[in-house]
Amino acid sequence: MDANEPGQPPEGVPVGAQGLLSANLAVPNSALAIGAHPDDVEFGCGATLAKWAAAGCIVHHLVLTDGSKGTWNPDADTVALALQRQAEQREAARRLAGAAAGSVVFLAQVDGELDSSLALRGRVAEVIRQLRPQVVLGHDPWKRYRLHPDHRHAGLLACEGIVASRDPHFFKEHGLAPHRPDALLLWEADEVNHLEDVSGFVDTKLRALEAHESQFESTMKAVDHAQVEAFRARIRTRLAGLGEPYGVAAAELFHIITNL
Ligand SMILES: [Zn+2]
Repeated sequence: MDANEPGQPPEGVPVGAQGLLSANLAVPNSALAIGAHPDDVEFGCGATLAKWAAAGCIVHHLVLTDGSKGTWNPDADTVALALQRQAEQREAARRLAGAAAGSVVFLAQVDGELDSSLALRGRVAEVIRQLRPQVVLGHDPWKRYRLHPDHRHAGLLACEGIVASRDPHFFKEHGLAPHRPDALLLWEADEVNHLEDVSGFVDTKLRALEAHESQFESTMKAVDHAQVEAFRARIRTRLAGLGEPYGVAAAELFHIITNL
């Protein structure tokens, strides 16, 4: 397993090429993926989580907002939509990880109005201390030209939540032992330095994405069978394209931080 420690050359992947620092982490015992909205985790790192879950990693989810603006219908019942999206997220987590599915936690902040306040940082740190994941995954808050504020704030909350979780004098009122994860993987990375070979796990990612039925129209542009097939083809092509420069059939790319 030591050969797969971050920073070590993994078999078959030309580390050093195109800024790559490491690839294919040793499968962690547990992982926590932190997303702004239901479906962000599946888009960002779904195939990586599926790969790890297949090897026994317990996969937890933390979804920060209620997803209540995720529709193009101006007359939508947003309370009902938020409830539907929670159910879809639980189903997506089950499809990704099967028996290795862990907790699915919702902080239910209003969609589109997420901030990275001290109070929310404390709530994220509390979840990290409760679940004690070996690896945390989240949005890259430093992705340039990103417009959606929820994604930026969600990324900051993941990073700053780890700092608050690891240090004993932060949020003592939690009454929980500090926890320091081994690695943080940021998806949509502004500066890619880590690759996960997800060959064989793209279809599991797709099945999990397709649990988010409320998003077929607005996010996936897939309201009939032909459009669903086109959506699947776009995802397959994208992951193949990410892997191609590194000689793998399908990849998800990240910025990895191990100095936590
Ligand atoms: Zn999102």
